[in-house]
Amino acid sequence: MRPSGGRAWLAMALWTVGFTACGEPPAGAPPPAAPIAAGEAPVERSPAEPAPSAVPAGSPAAPVEPVLLAIDTHVDTTQRMLDEGDDLAQELPNGHLDLPRMRRGGLHGAFFSIWVDPREHEGEAAWARALALIGAVEALAARHPAEVAIARTGDEVRAAQASGRVALLMGIEGAHAFGAPARDEVLFERLREAHARGVRYLTITWSNDNRFGHSSSGRAPSRGLTPLGRRLIRELHALGVIVDVSHVSDRTFWDIAAIAERPLLASHSSCRALSAHPRNVTDPMIRAIAEGGGAVCINFYTRFIDAEYAARRTALESSHRARFAQLRREHERWDRSEPQNALARALGGEALGVPTLETLGAHFAHAAAIGGPGAVCLGSDFDGVGELPLGLEDVARLGALRAELERRGLPLGPILGENVLRVLDAQRE
Ligand SMILES: [Zn+2]
Repeated sequence: MRPSGGRAWLAMALWTVGFTACGEPPAGAPPPAAPIAAGEAPVERSPAEPAPSAVPAGSPAAPVEPVLLAIDTHVDTTQRMLDEGDDLAQELPNGHLDLPRMRRGGLHGAFFSIWVDPREHEGEAAWARALALIGAVEALAARHPAEVAIARTGDEVRAAQASGRVALLMGIEGAHAFGAPARDEVLFERLREAHARGVRYLTITWSNDNRFGHSSSGRAPSRGLTPLGRRLIRELHALGVIVDVSHVSDRTFWDIAAIAERPLLASHSSCRALSAHPRNVTDPMIRAIAEGGGAVCINFYTRFIDAEYAARRTALESSHRARFAQLRREHERWDRSEPQNALARALGGEALGVPTLETLGAHFAHAAAIGGPGAVCLGSDFDGVGELPLGLEDVARLGALRAELERRGLPLGPILGENVLRVLDAQRE
């Protein structure tokens, strides 16, 4: 159900936490008054290059390092595909992700987020928007069948990689996307339709509460799953759709963990032990996810991975409110973040302490220390957040993250892709 305060309340709540997609301050808005104490692989060979087994017999026996499959579980690029008509087969001048840059970064596939902004698409309009976003992913596959393929299983992801194509997976972010029909049964019919179209995870909430459960940044974060939400978990298990716990309140998380019978995924959440933000998962949550065979995909967003940086950045923007507001007015959405980041760095200097690859690598290491290396994966939030760590400015630079993980002695194969495919395939066993 929608909060009784309706749109006004929701706008206020989202304003408070400063989100648009997954963490960016609202367009045209001043930064939140309070610190966002709580605010979003590389291989050495591109997917188009032949796998080692494809080397012709008789070739010089140079040792070839095996390709490590790399899958990102959360990218928000879908919106620009639909709203701007951007073709990902072309290298785009801004944003974080397109096919050429995925290939350079060694990313073989990604879950494209089906995220509906509840402020722009209220009630029943949300479902129409969700279908349009699914349609945008399908259109990319139809337009470039030699370059991409929609994938719904681990085998389909591997087949796409083997044929040199990027795997397009889909996940819905927030069950408000199913709209507001009069009968609950219609929500489940829509879930089945989304599954039939290829959707393979559902984030139970986004930053807003919905009729299934409560969000970490909603009106009542102390509350959890609703009775309808409990039914939703059963329906997801029956269909083979991953239950995604990113964005939910702590109470919703534990309500889900108590009844889940399949491995869970946190598709884009970092570690709260390192950065005190409610969008991050606690150590007990990491243990619970790992014990159930699931995985935590680390979010790259600077304000999630370093809450102290988030506070410094927010304070800086508050001190120079007019200059940041002017930049937001002067730039369209996909060009808006970098000028603000540049201004913040110019004003704040060294003391601003922008998070680096090392900051991000610490989250991977921590999650692996708590849950084991089988419980960690990539959940970048590319194109859903306004700033990425220094040295990882877009997907083309994923090789730098791979090097950081190697430096820390973390096993690359599981973390880059195999863990996610295990969780995906375990939904159908
Ligand atoms: Zn998100």
